[in-house]
Amino acid sequence: MVNGSEMQHLRRCVELAKEALEAGDQPFGSILVAADGAVLFEDRNRVSSGDQTRHPEFEIARWAAANMTVEERAVATVFTSGEHCPMCAAAHGWVGLGRIVYVSSCEQLSTWLADLGVPASPVQNLSIQQVVPNLVVEGPIANLDKQVHDLHRRFYRK
Ligand SMILES: [Zn+2]
Repeated sequence: MVNGSEMQHLRRCVELAKEALEAGDQPFGSILVAADGAVLFEDRNRVSSGDQTRHPEFEIARWAAANMTVEERAVATVFTSGEHCPMCAAAHGWVGLGRIVYVSSCEQLSTWLADLGVPASPVQNLSIQQVVPNLVVEGPIANLDKQVHDLHRRFYRK
């Protein structure tokens, strides 16, 4: 279950996704939160740099590996506007981070992008749990997912 302060974290992810959109990047944003609720790190998509691996969830995994103990990582939560892609889910799993809460799912995204006529991604669409089977994962979040859908529409209709 997602409580009130967790909803705030999710709304912040949507804000970061909007910042990405406004900077010409794909609209994705993510936050790393410690077991005590402290926000440790946040980032947004930065693929307009030309590096297609600059996803916020990948940056979070690297930051966690560099700055947190194994024990701290296991009890941390990653909030994100969109479910991790297979690359980011694997990075999350390799560094041993904990629960993930996403606003919109990979399945939703692939439907939205197909509707917008966006060519299929070169990477297979898998759920987080197909990549990291024992992880606790929650989402999508009703209503907030509509805001993420809108950001993707705006990105591809430019
Ligand atoms: Zn990713």
